[in-house]
Amino acid sequence: MTRTNVHTEHCCLKHGCKYGNALCPVATGRQPQSFLCEACEWDIEATATKALDPTYRPMQPVIRVQGTLRFKANPLVRFLLDAGPFDMNQLAAIPCSPEERMQFAQLIGYSLGGYQELSYVTTDEHYLVNEVVRVAKDRSL
Ligand SMILES: [Zn+2]
Ligand SMILES: [Zn+2]
Repeated sequence: MTRTNVHTEHCCLKHGCKYGNALCPVATGRQPQSFLCEACEWDIEATATKALDPTYRPMQPVIRVQGTLRFKANPLVRFLLDAGPFDMNQLAAIPCSPEERMQFAQLIGYSLGGYQELSYVTTDEHYLVNEVVRVAKDRSL
């Protein structure tokens, strides 16, 4: 049986110790938290709200692969593309929005530089990618 204490009742593995204690058993992953913290609940509500916006498009995480920043490919989408029978030229003929094409390009793991050169990448998206590159550089990622 897991013992409960102030930390298990109020702290969070993701959002840290409510009391700023570096040895917090929850924040350090040694004990499970009993509840979602307040910040977890805000995150979930914000995510649910975004999910109900039909224009919302999630951004794939960006990772560095052999020195190059790339969107993290979804292995299932990547498998479907690599296994065929449809190639990128055939997919280009399918009617869909620039947003849907941008999401697909992220899911198949485009490099950020290659992504920015795609004809359907919008100006806003271009600036967003520049910002990702800047933040990655700032954090030496
Ligand atoms: Zn704590
Ligand atoms: Zn939390």
